[in-house]
Amino acid sequence: MGLTIGVDVGGTKIAAGVVDDYGIVVETVRRDTPDTDERATQAAIVGLVEDLSDRHEISAVGVGLAGYIDSDRSTVRFAPNLSPYVDWRNVALGEWLSEALGLRVTVENDANAAAWGEFVFGAGRDVEDLLLVTVGTGVGGGLVTEGHLYRGAFGIATEIGHMRVVPNGLECPCGQYGCFEQYASGRALVREARDRIIAKAPEAETLSRLIGGNPDLLTGPMVTEQARDGDALACEIFAEVGRWLGEGIAALVAVLDPGMVAIGGGVADAGDLLLEPARRAMERSVTAAEFRRHGELRLARLGGAAGMIGAADLAKSS
Ligand SMILES: [Zn+2]
Repeated sequence: MGLTIGVDVGGTKIAAGVVDDYGIVVETVRRDTPDTDERATQAAIVGLVEDLSDRHEISAVGVGLAGYIDSDRSTVRFAPNLSPYVDWRNVALGEWLSEALGLRVTVENDANAAAWGEFVFGAGRDVEDLLLVTVGTGVGGGLVTEGHLYRGAFGIATEIGHMRVVPNGLECPCGQYGCFEQYASGRALVREARDRIIAKAPEAETLSRLIGGNPDLLTGPMVTEQARDGDALACEIFAEVGRWLGEGIAALVAVLDPGMVAIGGGVADAGDLLLEPARRAMERSVTAAEFRRHGELRLARLGGAAGMIGAADLAKSS
């Protein structure tokens, strides 16, 4: 079918890329996500697509966006994380973009798009059933089953970050308590490290020095960096977050029995620091492990481009 554009709309950046039939990104353009209103974000997407269309022959556009996307694959029902100032509610994004661009536009949840990208071109190329778990600030999920992207009856399946794993546990921005992503995400990694720094725990000394004693300056990549250097506290926190992750995945394996589970998202850049404790916890927690086979846990392969590549490919098939 030739070239399509995949657009990845996140809370801070919008990236648009021209993608070919082999999942290769030919050219990418980016800009900051406007925080004024939905129309500004829509206009920004149009600007990026038109820019790329000047240099490439484009047949369709796929948009991956962090939010609840209706099963019409056009309407954004609810996207609270795109801007600190604007909550998207019932925005007919696909329809509006299609009119503005004169191209067919498909909208998909960003983790679903990333799962599709990994299934077709990345870690899941050799399986028919794949569960992608994205570990970033929060936890997202996408499922491909028997070669099809699973969306659920209303388009909002696999919001796995909000499974309750601890009754009356930590508060989540979704309004509930004890959600999976409060324990198995980049947010959990940073929160735990900050708590130790604030408590002036002796093992937190190296991390504390790194940020001049100001816990607000601590980021996930800093904890990863320190763990790579062998810092005992950073390694311990990764082991703990990995354990939560693996236990949650074991529960998902019990329900879904995927052919493989890929771990993606920014925190997966830590590689084995996250994967190994997750794998151990999953293998320990899978029910009746000695009587069954289960899908392997792997790192995702496409990195930050998975959503863009998946959205571009989904635009071809719709
Ligand atoms: Zn939640």
